Amino acid sequence: MMSTSTGLRVLVADLVKRPGAARSLQIDDHLGPLVVGEVELDDDGRVALDLHLERIAEGIVVRGTLGATWSGRCARCLGPVAGTLEVAVDELYEREPLEGETYQLDIDSIDLEPLTRDALGLEMPLAPLCRTDCAGLCPNCGIDRNVAVCTCQPDESDSRWAGLSNVRFDDDTSSDSSADFPATD
Ligand SMILES: [Zn+2]
Ligand SMILES: [Zn+2]
Repeated sequence: MMSTSTGLRVLVADLVKRPGAARSLQIDDHLGPLVVGEVELDDDGRVALDLHLERIAEGIVVRGTLGATWSGRCARCLGPVAGTLEVAVDELYEREPLEGETYQLDIDSIDLEPLTRDALGLEMPLAPLCRTDCAGLCPNCGIDRNVAVCTCQPDESDSRWAGLSNVRFDDDTSSDSSADFPATD
């Protein structure tokens, strides 16, 4: 009989009964929302699992790859950015799992959801870029420097106050001059 699965919970009675037994398992399913910072998995956490399950003395080893796609916002310019994940896994399911190290082998099934969430979550980019040389937003005026040029001084010092020398105090359109002073943040 081929593998039987309900979502990401997989029946493994056949493996539990036969030490040394192994089989492959492919699943294409939805994990549910998975968000890390400004990045989230697409399509309600759609994941493709291509795994090899093997019964060993300690439990069941799950090896293979997890695939998913994500989208989010560029850390520099806040524009849309997207990518794919292809994550290799090699984990043990056992009767008495070690917190943070192995996963729970239930009576006759294993739940691949925690493994999948852990593995994909770790690989999702914390600060994705729309392209490696994204120029980002001007820290002074906020213009998107990928598509426009502003008159601010170049941010050579990488200081948030780099634009200070460009601040004009003779702007009489402002009713409250202190509001324009960057140091008030
Ligand atoms: Zn960008
Ligand atoms: Zn600017």
